[in-house]
This record gives sequence, C-alpha cells and structure tokens, in this order.
Amino acid sequence: MNDILGMTVEELEAFFKEIEEPRYRAEQLAQWIYGKRMRSFDEMTNFSKKLKQKLKEHSYIYTLKLRTSQLSKDGTKKFLFALEDGELIETVLIKHQKEADEIRNTLCISTQVGCQMACSFCATGQSGFERNLTVSEIVAQITHVQRIEKLKINNIVFMGMGEPFLNYDNVIKAVKIINEKKFLNIGIRRITISTCGLVPEIKKLADEQLDVVLAVSLHSADNEKRSAIMPINKKYPLEKLKEAIAYYIEKTNRRISLEYAMIKGFNDRPEDLRKLLSFCGGLMVHVNIIPINETEQGFKKSEKAAHFAASLKKKNIEASIRQEKGSDIDAACGQLKGKGR
Ligand code: SAH
Repeated sequence: MNDILGMTVEELEAFFKEIEEPRYRAEQLAQWIYGKRMRSFDEMTNFSKKLKQKLKEHSYIYTLKLRTSQLSKDGTKKFLFALEDGELIETVLIKHQKEADEIRNTLCISTQVGCQMACSFCATGQSGFERNLTVSEIVAQITHVQRIEKLKINNIVFMGMGEPFLNYDNVIKAVKIINEKKFLNIGIRRITISTCGLVPEIKKLADEQLDVVLAVSLHSADNEKRSAIMPINKKYPLEKLKEAIAYYIEKTNRRISLEYAMIKGFNDRPEDLRKLLSFCGGLMVHVNIIPINETEQGFKKSEKAAHFAASLKKKNIEASIRQEKGSDIDAACGQLKGKGR
C-alpha cells in the first residue's frame, strides 16, 4: 500500500502515473490533503467514485489518533497522539504574538518514540527508546494539528521527542514534504532541526544543500561538564563538535543556533561563560539561552541568563533568551514524555 503522506511530490506523481491517472489529479489530491486539510478520499468531491475506489485500493492517508490535548495558560497546546502500533508521541503548538503583522504558529514535532540520547536534564530520554517515526508519522503531526485547530502552521521545529539525526533519512524526506510548495509550503528557513551534536550527520546535512536552520544543543563548553549531562559528548567531544559546526557554516554560509540551557550552579559560573565565549570564537553562531525547565532531576533555573546574553553580545556574538512556553502543562523543552499525564 502506498502511504500518501510519506511521499514527495515526485513520488506522488509517479504513483498517479502508475495507476494510470493524469498528473493534475496528483495535484488535486495534494490540494485536498494539504490545502483543504481532508483526511479521507471520500471527502474529495471532484474525484469520481471510480477514482476514489482506485485510490483506496492502492493507497491510504495515514492518520494519527488524538488521545488528549492540554492547553497552557500561555496558549501553548500539547497533543498526545497514538500511533498505529499504540506507541505515543507528543506535539506542541506554540502561538506567538503577532509579529510584523503576521501571526506565527510554531509546531514542535517529534521524530522518535522516546530517545536514546539520555541527556540527564531531559524527560524524554529518561523513559527509554522505542523506535523511529516514519515519514508520514512526522508529517501527520502537522496536517492533524492544522485540521483540528483550523490554522496554518508556518514554523516547524524538530525539537519534540527524539534525536532527529538518528532518524536522518526520514527527517530529511519529511523536510522536503513540509517545504514543498504544492504540499505544506512552509519556507525552508522556517524549519529548524535541533540535534544534540551528532558530528557525522551535521557534516552530512552541510553537504545536502537543504538550507534548513540547524540548532545544536550545547549546554556546556566544558568537556567534563558536557559529558556529565550529555553522554553523546563522550563520543563527539567539543573539539569535534566545533569542527563540524565550522564545516557546516563554511559549506552553507548559514548561521547555526547554539542552545544553552542554564542550570543554576552548574553551567552558569564565570568560567562557564569564558569557555562559552571561547567556543563561539570565530564561529557564525546565535546563542539561544534557555532557562532550564525543571524536571524530576532536580536541576534549578539560573538567574544568570541575562548576564550571559549581555556578555555574548558584548563580544559581538548574537544571543537571545528563549521565552519558555507551556511549562505548566509539561510542554516545554525537555518535558515531553509521551505519557500524557
Ligand atoms: N534531540 C534534539 C531535539 C530535542 S530537544 C536535541 O537534543 O537538540 C530540544 C531542545 O530542548 C534541546 O536543545 C534540548 O537540549 C533542550 N532541553 C532538553 N531538556 C531541557 C530542559 N529540561 N530544559 C530546557 N531545555 C531542555
């Protein structure tokens, strides 16, 4: 069976050719699914009964099952979806204030059920790993939320459950579908992939010429400290990470975002700032300071975020403090468990 939501535009056209239907029908189908947000062939009123039947015989439109949703005081909404095999994932909708006369709806999507990376401050990693998501399970998070919330998503962050680069091929294919003009039509610079720092994949993406925004979770510029909270640092220590980041910037001529979650008494001391400044030296980066979200591990928020941001700016390194959203419903960074408490 052909999984329509997992197809690129070329694949969809090839599929229509295979079932001996004209190419414009593929475009109409895309219009129904992505434009008009339909999820069954029966809703497609300009398709004949015969065509609908044919499509049903050869293909399907993947649908997630919404288990629950929770609304935060700040308007952020978290969705708990069940997959066909019963596994659960979470997706977060963040509505921003009108910016320059434009409403920005960001969707934070998951790429895996659970996560293998085991970062000590992140709840997702604590509950283990089940499997990678398929392309359509990734894409369906967007189509589903657009349909039920009746809004257009115009920003995507791959910052939900999982490490996107451990599901590299599916993530890249999903990005193409999300960006495709005839499909979801979300600008490539409005799609961000966040990684905990998988060096080979950072280089691979650099060679891909895809132009998405890349974010790297740094959190400490000291090898010992970074290894203590992010086991991946033992495999790809800071020197290697910096080299990969430099390679990415050189290849793409694009700025990278570095995420730095500030933990009281751990990575917020003067020597941590010195090391962070030195790590950023010579790199075209934007440092995104995130006040750590308190999970069960007992990490506390640092009050030094503004000081760090100001010090970075003084050295001409772009920096901002991320406005945390949805922490009252465990929808903020590092709080997704896929359990729907
Ligand atoms: N695996 C990817 C993407 C998912 S996490 C990655 O590591 O980048 C998205 C962001 O939230 C990452 O920067 C992650 O380090 C951060 N994060 C995780 N737990 C957090 C917490 N408790 N508080 C603040 N940010 C957290």
